Amino acid sequence: MNFENKRTFAQKLDEQNELKHFRSQFHIPKHGEKNSIYFTGNSLGLQPLKATDYVLREMEDWARLGGEGHTEARQPWIPYHEIFPGQLSRIIGCQPDEVVVMNSLTVNLHLLMVSFYAPTPQRYKIIMEHKAFPSDQYAVESQVKFHGFDPKDAVIEIKPRANEQTIRHEDILSAINENADSLSLVFFGGINYYTGQVFNMESITLAAHKAGALVGFDLAHAAGNIELHLHDWGVDFACWCTYKYLNSGPGGVGGAFINQRHISDTSLNRFAGWWGYKKETRFKMDAGFEPIPTAEGWQLSNAPVLSMAVHKAAIELMDEAGMKNLSAKGRLLSAYLIFILKELADKFREHQISIITPEREEERGCQVSFIIKKEGKKIFEKLLEQGVSAGWREPEVIRVAPVPLYNTFEEIWEFGEMINNILSGSTVTE
Ligand SMILES: *Cc1c(COP(=O)(O)O)cnc(C)c1O
Repeated sequence: MNFENKRTFAQKLDEQNELKHFRSQFHIPKHGEKNSIYFTGNSLGLQPLKATDYVLREMEDWARLGGEGHTEARQPWIPYHEIFPGQLSRIIGCQPDEVVVMNSLTVNLHLLMVSFYAPTPQRYKIIMEHKAFPSDQYAVESQVKFHGFDPKDAVIEIKPRANEQTIRHEDILSAINENADSLSLVFFGGINYYTGQVFNMESITLAAHKAGALVGFDLAHAAGNIELHLHDWGVDFACWCTYKYLNSGPGGVGGAFINQRHISDTSLNRFAGWWGYKKETRFKMDAGFEPIPTAEGWQLSNAPVLSMAVHKAAIELMDEAGMKNLSAKGRLLSAYLIFILKELADKFREHQISIITPEREEERGCQVSFIIKKEGKKIFEKLLEQGVSAGWREPEVIRVAPVPLYNTFEEIWEFGEMINNILSGSTVTE
């Protein structure tokens, strides 16, 4: 598409977009009287309007029924989590019995590593991305130590090459091949939280399996952002949080995927809890754990219904919009943002604006990370003062995520115009 750096052009893109009506389903935070330009949905997604009703409904049922609500609530609490697999299977790209909503992201990562990181003296290494999100680094490091290995030896981090910002795909694959004899697990983000780079999960999975290792992905920045086909790709496990692109509220309940080939494998290690126990006989409270033969078998505790009520509101909207449409609009929003940033980079060369998110469509979702080498921090702070919500990561990266459900092309144009005016030394025009 031939983009134009004009408000009317951006408005036309909004007008033509089939997802435009979803914006009115969300609370947009204010900056003074005006709407802020909220580009931090990659950190905390916005609140769906109907979330309040869904939570209130559970509060009312609790007030009215007390413990009877477990079976008598309008949406009974014992099987509350069972409403999700159908919708999530379309968002995550899997079969319904491969997905479960439970706990939180890092907790789920640990539980899944208990099952899928089973190192032996010969095969104990883990390949992951350099600069993975810190929680993932700590989880992996502590799992490695728990099994008696030294993270310095057991954890192989794949880095960008010198003077490059993102990881080359071929470097991931060659590291997998080179370590084929000692590799136990490949664990990557689906999208790197810092650069916005989308990794080729399908070919990483193929290479890892060929090397005799298992594969897991952290989908914190991928779930609800790009189309995923976890089942078809043959991924072994994955986990995600729901408060980023899945708009399910601060600290919202997490999610996990376990491939069908593993869900009824009782030989796997697992840390069990009563909610993973076979439903027919769960309340006999007998000794001896017998897991549900689906991803639900990894559950520990009964459903956090209030958090799940928010998740329900958010997931209904995503499912209605459809992942294919969301992903297409997300890529178009980021393409427009990249176009605007490049124009600024050309116009204000002395500020050395560079984009670190890969430009190739398959390698990005809706997030764009960029650097303004000269006075970046000051410019960033001015943008905040003018009502932009964006992310700063030390030492110099600005992260911006225009989210397909509620952001607009016009906001991207306005964002560019603000930077233009700041760099031109004038104040922002309307
Ligand atoms: C956001 C994020 C987390 C956060 O973990 P919590 O357990 O939800 O606090 C972890 N890993 C990645 C890659 C993330 O992007």
